[in-house]
Amino acid sequence: MEIKVLGVVGAGQMGSGIAQVGAVAGLSVIMNDIKDEFVERGFSTIDASLGRMVKKGKMSEADKGAVLGRIEGSTSLEDMSRADFMVEAATENEGLKLNIFGELDSYCREGVILSSNTSSISITKIAAATKRPEKVIGMHFMNPVPMMKLVEIIKGLATSDETFQMTHDLALHLDKIPVPANDFPGFVANRILMPMINEAVYALFEGVGKAEDIDQIMKLGMNHPMGPLALADLIGLDTCLSIMDVLHRGLGDAKYRACPLLRKYVDAGWLGRKTGRGFYQY
Ligand code: NAD
Repeated sequence: MEIKVLGVVGAGQMGSGIAQVGAVAGLSVIMNDIKDEFVERGFSTIDASLGRMVKKGKMSEADKGAVLGRIEGSTSLEDMSRADFMVEAATENEGLKLNIFGELDSYCREGVILSSNTSSISITKIAAATKRPEKVIGMHFMNPVPMMKLVEIIKGLATSDETFQMTHDLALHLDKIPVPANDFPGFVANRILMPMINEAVYALFEGVGKAEDIDQIMKLGMNHPMGPLALADLIGLDTCLSIMDVLHRGLGDAKYRACPLLRKYVDAGWLGRKTGRGFYQY
């Protein structure tokens, strides 16, 4: 099936980024969230991101208008009956994603691939919520989507080779570099990244260093472009906590226990940049 219309569920930081790169690549995009205000916030994020590209001379004002014109907002999953390929990028919560995939399965045309941008949740389990497990796959973009080249592609137990190939080819069309990973908790990227971030939170919790110093040590000492605590704030502390919980439950090893300080920040609603406060204030 030729992919002309990309459906995106979730208009948060990842969903809006995926909608943006889809529209920049010339696809028509339907960007869905639960409320109009969340869809509008997604459009504002895209507008600001494209605006920065115009300022840097990487895109003309006219092209920016054309890209925005290819994105349609939606608050009903039924609109996805027009999509040729789906990317789900809603909140990192297993129950929520299983429901969304059950609904997408009933609304999307036969043959349409349903992909998830989940950071850690089992693709095999998500696929089992549908009657088309061979068409379900992980398409894990990195944050910020317009800047980052990697897309981790994860086959579930029943995912077909054809679904993998089409998803791989779409990633290339979006100017990304697809790399395969197998379906284990956190796949490759977050299996390695998240325990490092969690350890940085422990270092802060136990008073090994101040947030700024922990980040500075990792930046200067390991040549990381961002410190782990600043990166956690960018990812979202709720997302970091959900991923740690998936690793802990799925792998059963105490080394994946989320730091109590991370849980406390999430309880306080300090989710990082998206709420204006995390390990730093914005
Ligand atoms: P976010 O909190 O910025 O956005 C999530 C959006 O999903 C919100 O706008 C929310 O209203 C919406 N949503 C919730 N329930 C919905 C539903 N039933 N239907 C439609 N929309 C719904 O989160 P995010 O950072 O964009 O993360 C989204 C997904 O991407 C998660 O699975 C996350 O693990 C994954 N991811 C995140 C990052 C990151 O760095 N933040 C990186 C890669 C992957």
